Amino acid sequence: MLGTMQDRPLTLVHFFERAERYFADKEIVTGTPAGTERTTYGEWADRTRRLGSALDRLGISADGRVATFAWNTARHLELYFAAPCSGRVLHTLNIRLFPEQVTYIVNHAEDEVVFVDRSLLGLLAPLVPTFTSVRYLVVMEDAGPGHELPTFDGVEVLEYEALVADGPPAEFRVDDEWRAASMCYTSGTTGNPKGVVYTHRSTYLHTLAMLFADSVGVTEQDVVMPVVPMFHANAWGLAHAGVATGASLVLPGPDLSPGALVDLIEAERVTVAAGVPTIWMGVLDELGGRDVSSLRAIPCGGSAVPKALSEAYRAATGMPILQAWGMTETSPIASVAVVRSGLAGRSEDELADLRACQGPAVLGVDLRIVDQATGEPAPWDGESRGELQAAGPWITATYYDDERSAESFTDDGWLRTGDVAVMTPEGYVRIVDRTKDVVKSGGEWISSVELENEIMAHPKVAEAAVIGVPHPKWSERPLACVVVRPGETLTKDEVLEFLDGRIARWWTPDDVVFIDEVPKTSVGKFSKKDLRDRFADHVLPTA
Ligand code: AMP
Repeated sequence: MLGTMQDRPLTLVHFFERAERYFADKEIVTGTPAGTERTTYGEWADRTRRLGSALDRLGISADGRVATFAWNTARHLELYFAAPCSGRVLHTLNIRLFPEQVTYIVNHAEDEVVFVDRSLLGLLAPLVPTFTSVRYLVVMEDAGPGHELPTFDGVEVLEYEALVADGPPAEFRVDDEWRAASMCYTSGTTGNPKGVVYTHRSTYLHTLAMLFADSVGVTEQDVVMPVVPMFHANAWGLAHAGVATGASLVLPGPDLSPGALVDLIEAERVTVAAGVPTIWMGVLDELGGRDVSSLRAIPCGGSAVPKALSEAYRAATGMPILQAWGMTETSPIASVAVVRSGLAGRSEDELADLRACQGPAVLGVDLRIVDQATGEPAPWDGESRGELQAAGPWITATYYDDERSAESFTDDGWLRTGDVAVMTPEGYVRIVDRTKDVVKSGGEWISSVELENEIMAHPKVAEAAVIGVPHPKWSERPLACVVVRPGETLTKDEVLEFLDGRIARWWTPDDVVFIDEVPKTSVGKFSKKDLRDRFADHVLPTA
């Protein structure tokens, strides 16, 4: 027997029309070098419709890929909806990828048009001649007046505001929820990036998951500031969640310095601000004397949130960081470390440990850990490690047109995440490492993430990354790369003494090196690959 319910597609057009109809007066604020620019969902919706008809006028194919090379701004949000709601596919380009990777993904996705912020044109312009499918480059002026449009052979260059002004408002309609809405390439540092294509349906469902009270719980009353770039895994769903709920959005633009971010939080009374741990490490030092009492959640993920960082926020703001785990492949939100009612009575220290986990799977997602030696599910006992695997309606089933897909999915269709994790009996995921980052010492594994966590608990440590370096007897041993807080001094012995009693003795790093900064990837994570290259020939002291 079938149900009696209507068959209405789950598409982004619904979110768009809802914001337009119900929240026309709510604000979208963009940070610019000249101060904040303010618009409303009403004005945004009108411009988004005009942009939709501009895409028609340019003759962008029915499912043409519309690329962006842009900061978090209201214009980028126009593209976020004009492309998919007119049937096209938004392709957010990561502005920090290596040039040859940008060329690869533009050509692999067959982008027809690239929308670029003027302030980023210097990065993109040298690559334009390498693009094989791009017909138009549309420049979004964000650097003041008086700039000329560049010229390229075979690529027409247009100005964004003229394009939007010229067009009548488009009617948006998408009948098939399985149509591609957007795509994003992974930011992995080895090999070419791999593409993931989100459907209207997956984005719709993922957006709802951002609204669950047991995840981030975005509501109309929020003022949401995605510090996470709009090119990093859909800004973790926060831009869509803003439009869907009518929450005010604060888009920080190009200035992601701690001072600028705290200015925005204070001035706009931001309630939800999300970014990777390195962002919040920087912001922490700016909090003194500032009023950030409007904040109700600081969602953070992309890499493990150090317990010490979360606790420092609890001390400074009364609110620990809300850790979430996910991947480009998982839209990205798959787990959020909310404290379940039955666990809330634990001591503050135990709760801090729980929040240092990546949390239980959000409703809609299934997670499991699989023993890599046997291929069998590993028990949820808080100790057994296994590869974390994910399944759900907003988890990708394959990579876009990529023969590397086979190795990333199991026979029963689960995504192999490449993360090693344990599960607590309550179902909290604790990421131990990326498979490629664990330190393999004498056949046993040392978790670089846990070691980093402990080192970063030292009050004089600003950042710490642990890598495995070759060792004649143990095959690999941990090397701690430590950044000391400005104005402080620290010795190797002090670091090792601090770790004494906090970790198993055999985990103790064989050496500690002090560096100015931990190199970061294109999305602000610690780049262990760069550190491994830098210290490949590091000679460990003999015991
Ligand atoms: P990306 O596709 O750039 O979002 O990267 C996804 C990867 O980031 C995951 O497979 C994890 O290795 C890592 N990651 C994301 N969130 C967390 C987290 N909360 N804790 C530890 N690692 C994380």
